[in-house]
Amino acid sequence: MSLDQPEFDTSPPVSDEVRKTTCYMCACRCGINVHMKDGPDGKKRVAYIEGNRDHPVNRGVLCAKGSAGILQHLSPARLRAPLKRVGPRGSGEFEEITWEEAMQTATDWLAPLRETAPEKLAFFTGRDQSQSFTGWWAQQFGTPNYAAHGGFCSVNMAAAGIYTMGGAFWEFGQPDWERTKLFMIFGVAEDHDSNPIKMGLGRLKERGAKVIGVNPVRSGYNAIADEWVGITPGTDGLFILALIHTLVAAGKVDLGYLTRYTDAPLLVNCDPGSPEEGLFLRDGDGKPLLLDRKGGAPVAFDTPGVKPDLAAEHRADGKLYRPVFQLMAERYLSDDYAPEAVAERCGVPAARIRRIAAELARVAFEEEITIDQPWTDFRGQRHEKMTGRPVSFHAMRGISAHSNGFQTCRALHVLQILLGSVEVPGGFRFKPPYPKPVSAHPVPHADATPGRPLPGPHLGFPRGPEHLALTGDGAPLRIDKAFSWENPLSAHGMMHMVISNAHAGDPYRIDTLFMYMANMAWNSSMNTSQVMQMLTDKDDDGEYVIPRIIYSDAYSSEMVAYADLILPDTTYLERHDCISLLDRPICEADAAADAIRWPVSPPDRPGHEGVRGFQSVLIDLGARLGLPGFVEEDGSPAFADYADYIVNHERRPGVGPLAGWRGEDGEGRGRGAPNPDQLQRYIDNGGFWIDHIPEEALYYKPWNKGYQDWAVARGIFDAPQPYLFNLYVEPMARFRLAARGHGDRQPPAHLRDRLDQAMDPMPIWYPPLEESAVGAGVEESYPLHALTQRPMAMYHSWGSQNAWLRQIHGRNPLYVPGKIWREHGFAEGDWARLTSPNGAIIVPVVRMEALNDHTVWTWNAIGKRKGAWALDKDAPEVTKGFLMNHLIGDLLPPRGDGMRWSNSDPVTGQAAWFDLRVRIEKVPAPEDARARPETGSQASPVGVGPDEVRLGEKR
Ligand code: SF4
Repeated sequence: MSLDQPEFDTSPPVSDEVRKTTCYMCACRCGINVHMKDGPDGKKRVAYIEGNRDHPVNRGVLCAKGSAGILQHLSPARLRAPLKRVGPRGSGEFEEITWEEAMQTATDWLAPLRETAPEKLAFFTGRDQSQSFTGWWAQQFGTPNYAAHGGFCSVNMAAAGIYTMGGAFWEFGQPDWERTKLFMIFGVAEDHDSNPIKMGLGRLKERGAKVIGVNPVRSGYNAIADEWVGITPGTDGLFILALIHTLVAAGKVDLGYLTRYTDAPLLVNCDPGSPEEGLFLRDGDGKPLLLDRKGGAPVAFDTPGVKPDLAAEHRADGKLYRPVFQLMAERYLSDDYAPEAVAERCGVPAARIRRIAAELARVAFEEEITIDQPWTDFRGQRHEKMTGRPVSFHAMRGISAHSNGFQTCRALHVLQILLGSVEVPGGFRFKPPYPKPVSAHPVPHADATPGRPLPGPHLGFPRGPEHLALTGDGAPLRIDKAFSWENPLSAHGMMHMVISNAHAGDPYRIDTLFMYMANMAWNSSMNTSQVMQMLTDKDDDGEYVIPRIIYSDAYSSEMVAYADLILPDTTYLERHDCISLLDRPICEADAAADAIRWPVSPPDRPGHEGVRGFQSVLIDLGARLGLPGFVEEDGSPAFADYADYIVNHERRPGVGPLAGWRGEDGEGRGRGAPNPDQLQRYIDNGGFWIDHIPEEALYYKPWNKGYQDWAVARGIFDAPQPYLFNLYVEPMARFRLAARGHGDRQPPAHLRDRLDQAMDPMPIWYPPLEESAVGAGVEESYPLHALTQRPMAMYHSWGSQNAWLRQIHGRNPLYVPGKIWREHGFAEGDWARLTSPNGAIIVPVVRMEALNDHTVWTWNAIGKRKGAWALDKDAPEVTKGFLMNHLIGDLLPPRGDGMRWSNSDPVTGQAAWFDLRVRIEKVPAPEDARARPETGSQASPVGVGPDEVRLGEKR
């Protein structure tokens, strides 16, 4: 027998050219190499996508979503031309029109609004990565009604982080993956921060670091955790406060860190009934004061050489002032937070809580890390070493999307700070432009004047009641009621309330709803069936209650069917985008970085009018409307398109959307005049720019003079912004004072008690509001919690129309824990009715043991409406896929006084998706084996996809 083997080319060339850009199959912004191959018609086609090994975000790693981008790019669901509705809303009946007609229609609708009542335009964008641009457009238009999707995503995490320590997780910062030894991850959806977390977990596993996952569901990251804590939903805050109780009781907190870098020593007015109760004692310059151990007198917090005293009290003018640390110790040493008091509610035994606290303490204090790197702090003191506590945390929507989520996220940030593990070696580290204290953020602006821009940005961080967006009569200025007494710190707006408020005319009616990339008629809304109804409801005069809807999407989504005018967007491989330091950049803890997308495969919809990048459409619309900044003095357009804007727009002199290769010589980093070659420099560099932070500035960023000076040089700040972390959030005390009757601006009577409780300046826990609203019988009527999770292989609704990704998740059963499964006698193939205070669904069930005993769950956004996304009417996503959203109310059940509050966190307005309570019953399988409710069907403006899509047959 011959041993000769035939010769194979095991690595044939897959492409003729590689073009490097940024992935947008989820929000992580990994670098990708897009391989192009000549098609049969001589045009280059996308043939293959791989990770870019030089890219700071993913270093070559590509996930299933990222590699399936080619099928997103070739998707038969892609829109092909602007559309004008010709059938009733929801029918999906459209006719294709020219871009000129589409733009003229939009201009004709919007121009009169700007001149008479700009607030009648509500402009809300979804998972938009260009918010600094879309927000600026809305500001120049003059409407107060702008926000992106943060209000229904994770504003609790972001706002709690900013108010507490000047940043939160994900885009704000990351664990010190190379040094951390104990990592706790709470409630993280697997599609968010996807590749970076997976790579980081890989590094921890290589080094033998321990991972503890806290999540009711053991999937994804939790499945590879060394320890899984299957907590009961909505109780994370209680669990964290029990950890704090245990650590404080054992004296295992970093007093040196707290003294130097936090407000722990600041003096709080503890005079009951005083109009300044709860506020810091300040000097004539407004600087908060602390007691100096040397002299015993109050001095400004930033006094050089000060030795803050955490224990002493101070009396002045008959008033008592106590340090924040004393107030915290008193609160958290209470038996209410003892592990034994919270164990049953959390579903975590007391001994286990104590053991985890002990482990945190042991690693933090007995495995301290020291780096021989001198640095100088903001008080001018030089330190010879950098010392760190190698414990780090990460959390996202799982703990955030509850009505107690703001305070829960605050508790987690406080836990990190008490351990001294933020911005130190081995701990949690900020990514530029963070850390950024509240004082470096704007306050919200909402005063609209016809024909004029808004006086400042829409979104911001109120410091007190004076920054609420209210009329002189106390009514909300914004359609979503963000920054009102109902949700004072709604820093990302409240997109989930826009449609229901506009439908109710509360606080006023609007004329045009303009949305981008937000599937509000389906998975992006609570209460989906009723939202569909609101979008189609008519007045007595036969006109739609929401008169006009303009929508931009790249695909034939459910929301497309509910709009009057469609402005078709491109896929992410067909347009320019800017992942900006002004927005949500791709920085690492060691470096500032930003990136672009560019048309590696220019838009091509043969036989149709074609599509345009939404940002370029806004540039055109802005010019047609004559918006300041979008036109020159002679009225001609200021920018040819979005690429032109990216290069030439300056937000401040010398600071624009991209930080790299600025200035006439292209050498400017962060600052410099516009450079006409800037985009080409990015393309030549693989689509990104990176600038490393100097060694002496890598840690202690909020207090490190070296970092502060570097940030100023890069245009991140215009002056150094050192600050103290806030264990105690003084702006919340100002709202609480208003609730108690102090100050000029007063809340309505029915909100006083709620504000007084919710605006506690130190983290608290209270049961999710849906539980309280249902009342005492909640455990009998709705004994289970119900969750949705996004899978690693899908990003929201985008993935379940993608031919490759559909093979991973083509349907979504309801996962039922073994205990409930047995109690109800379920068997394989069974169906169940799931009932909430808001409605019922009938769905297939599957057993899962690695699940909290009181929780059922499903994957989010796999289910699709018949006719949407170019799917066949019998596709499993249509027949067996379902949405939990039908069960989730946008309003809570009526209270005793008949009033209904929004199903949101009372501090930030974050949508409380995960407060949902349900009961489950076994029911016969429906005869047609389709999940319920039926949501009708929509005609498809793009037809139904073919069974096969081949290279060279792009539709
Ligand atoms: S994690 Fe995956 S889908 Fe998300 S940007 Fe990176 S490669 Fe793309």
